[in-house]
Amino acid sequence: MTTGTSEITIIGGGVVGLSIALGLLQAGRRVTVLDGSDEDFRASQGNFGLVWLQGKGSDFAPYAEWTRDAVAAWPGFAAMLGEYSCSDLALDQPGGFEFFTDPAEFEDFAAALKRQQTHLGNGFSHEVIHGDDLRRSHPEIGPDVAGATFSALDGHVNPLRLLRALRSTVLQLGGQIRSDAQVTAIAPAPGGGFKMSLRNGGQCGTERVVLTAGLGNTPLAAQLGFVTRVRPQRGELLITEKLADRLPFLSSTIRQVDEGGVQIGGTKAEAGPDDSETLDVVAGLAQHAVTVLPALADVRVVRAWGALRVMSPDGYPVYARSPRHPGAYLVTCHSGVTLAPLHAGVLAEWIDDTSNAPDLEAFDENRFAISDAA
Ligand SMILES: Cc1cc2nc3c(=O)[nH]c(=O)nc-3n(C[C@H](O)[C@H](O)[C@H](O)COP(=O)(O)OP(=O)(O)OC[C@H]3O[C@@H](n4cnc5c(N)ncnc54)[C@H](O)[C@@H]3O)c2cc1C
Repeated sequence: MTTGTSEITIIGGGVVGLSIALGLLQAGRRVTVLDGSDEDFRASQGNFGLVWLQGKGSDFAPYAEWTRDAVAAWPGFAAMLGEYSCSDLALDQPGGFEFFTDPAEFEDFAAALKRQQTHLGNGFSHEVIHGDDLRRSHPEIGPDVAGATFSALDGHVNPLRLLRALRSTVLQLGGQIRSDAQVTAIAPAPGGGFKMSLRNGGQCGTERVVLTAGLGNTPLAAQLGFVTRVRPQRGELLITEKLADRLPFLSSTIRQVDEGGVQIGGTKAEAGPDDSETLDVVAGLAQHAVTVLPALADVRVVRAWGALRVMSPDGYPVYARSPRHPGAYLVTCHSGVTLAPLHAGVLAEWIDDTSNAPDLEAFDENRFAISDAA
């Protein structure tokens, strides 16, 4: 059964697809989001919620600049979503720390921040603080912390409320979101546009299509001739009981969520399509948290989980137009929470091909074709 033709179909209703849908709806387009099912890996439902600039793009200036612009756009974006959805996204940008127990890793990261500083000039600042200096300003930090870096631009948000607010805003702006609408095949249609087959046996058509299916992008991207192949990278997280007092800092691995629990994370494992949590990694996270902040030793962990990051071959975003099939776009990235305001803004303009659309050539997938040939 064919269920009508949409102007733009977004395949994948995670934070990336919904952000783009929002931007296209604000530009007056008719948008349908086809989303998969709860059996899918969904990074948008298992992430850490950082809105983070520190360390991003230290070896790739366009990504450093893109992330800086996203972080700066967050207050306006959160206010807009808050108004539409009548919810508080709990955006907080107090500045954030990266803590190190290994002096060599501390040195390497400080050097990376220096390179990032070169790319961003006055648009970024950071501090490198050695252990004892750190403990003078933050006496609660443990004695085994070798040092920390700090950037005043870092922050965090409630990622589940972000997802809910995006869904509700897309619906309010007239977008359609279809759940359990797993696309199994996509091909150019004879008279123009694209036709899609769904797992439930349905078919639908669209004039333009944007692939934002996270780890589900790979088979669909191949059918449209894109060369990008994403891979999963597992992160494990845990959360503690709610604490009455607020933590005295935000860090990339330890953050207190607005409801009071302390979330601990930051692990990376190439474990394939397996998002289960593992006892040794979770124990390591707890150990890390207590090393940084010994006062956490008496706090109870209430839940642990694993989730899969969506990683492009070089870890940077891919924003690609199909040269073979005009009207087809591929969008995939890590840090889709941080980048959400730009995905709803300038990336949507780029997809819509407006006259003020930015040049996003640096993020095209032709960088993989070139390196494959080299
Ligand atoms: C452990 C962890 C921590 C992270 N921490 C942060 C952080 O602190 N800050 C930050 O900015 N980012 C963070 N991220 C990254 C961020 O979560 C992702 O970049 C973002 O969620 C990716 O969103 P997405 O929409 O591309 O993918 P997903 O959230 O995976 O959504 C893809 C959607 O596509 C659907 N789908 C799949 N296949 C199909 C198909 N064939 N047809 C239709 N629909 C389909 C799925 O059902 C799903 O809803 C983290 C990720 C992880 C895993």
